[in-house]
Amino acid sequence: MLPFRSKLPEVGTTIFTVMSQLALEEGAVNLGQGFPDFPMSAGLTEQVSKAMRDGYNQYTHMNGYPLLREQLAEKASELYGTRLDPDTAITITPGGTYAIYTALTTVLHPGDEVIVFEPAYDSYIPNIEINGAIPIRISLRYPDYSIPWEEVREKISTRTRMIMINSPHNPTGSVLREEDILALQKLVSETDILILSDEVYEHLIFDGIPHLSMLRYPDLLERSFVCFSFGKTYHCTGWKLGYCISPPALMREFRKVHQFNVFSCDTPKQVGVAAYMQQEKDWLHLPSFLQQKRDFFRELMKATPFQCIPSHGSYFECYGYGHFSQEPDKEFAIRLTKEYGIATIPVSAFYQNGEDNKVLRFCFAKKEETLTSAVARLANLK
Ligand code: PMP
Ligand code: GLN
Repeated sequence: MLPFRSKLPEVGTTIFTVMSQLALEEGAVNLGQGFPDFPMSAGLTEQVSKAMRDGYNQYTHMNGYPLLREQLAEKASELYGTRLDPDTAITITPGGTYAIYTALTTVLHPGDEVIVFEPAYDSYIPNIEINGAIPIRISLRYPDYSIPWEEVREKISTRTRMIMINSPHNPTGSVLREEDILALQKLVSETDILILSDEVYEHLIFDGIPHLSMLRYPDLLERSFVCFSFGKTYHCTGWKLGYCISPPALMREFRKVHQFNVFSCDTPKQVGVAAYMQQEKDWLHLPSFLQQKRDFFRELMKATPFQCIPSHGSYFECYGYGHFSQEPDKEFAIRLTKEYGIATIPVSAFYQNGEDNKVLRFCFAKKEETLTSAVARLANLK
């Protein structure tokens, strides 16, 4: 083996792959990795097939199929009241994860500090570190997973380049409120701190709470990369198609990285989504559709000893078990998969310091029969 120095020496295989693989081996119901098990829109798959049949099979524009970017600008204007120039502010990407990585790679220099809240979606910290930058980790307040803004203020230094936020939040389902936006505005005004806002769950938000996108606030948007995923909006996580919105000066730099990484994304899917968006606004029904699933799942879980930590958005709800077992969450999640046949995600996997509040994340974006059969397996749990 030729000697080389790993750029990510501490990183193993993502927990999503680990738990999905175990679920497969054990024949368990998989409420771990976040993906729906119900079908996506047949109208949309038909549009993509049609795009292929119509010959849209070569590279499209490097920044994304123009009609799709126009549709996204229109949607942003309707939902968030922001005016975006599709030519300078929107780039289509192969998924939200890629958009986040590209945004970080666009601006981070070695030694830059990035404030990141834990539990954190598992790609964030490796994405920071591979750029030679330094994650400044702050734990969200357990158990409501709100942001401790006073601690953020204390941790800001002259090297702080960026703050990463994620609302609705994976894995906890917490969402940003007006007071969070005010605190963020106050902290960053008169600094040159940038914001990476991961809004892939923008439409999966419940209880009548509005999604407080960075797109609503011109003073925040002027310093933001805002990342989205079609996978979540259209129940097709396997499509790996998303987009990034940012002000033109930042987007120019983003595209310098993008053009030599992927250049352009899947053409027929972009053409299909653009055509579909002209007829349908699926996102209008998403909050109630997913809230119904959350409520159905929550009701089922009342028959188990787990303690609900209420989710207000995303595909996920977290449940505590510290009152009946002190087993570390990774071991507990593996035992549940092997002995009870239900796979979940241990939330300590989203903390670098191994913080373990004895909490598991369950994905409820499933058919009712899947949820029923999964929770039935917990009937004898002690
Ligand atoms: N951010 C968060 C918080 C997510 O849960 C996901 C879902 N995988 C992504 C980003 C990335 O989405 P995509 O599958 O489009 O890369
Ligand atoms: N976003 C999904 C989750 O949190 C899965 C992403 C992945 O497998 N990389 O479960």
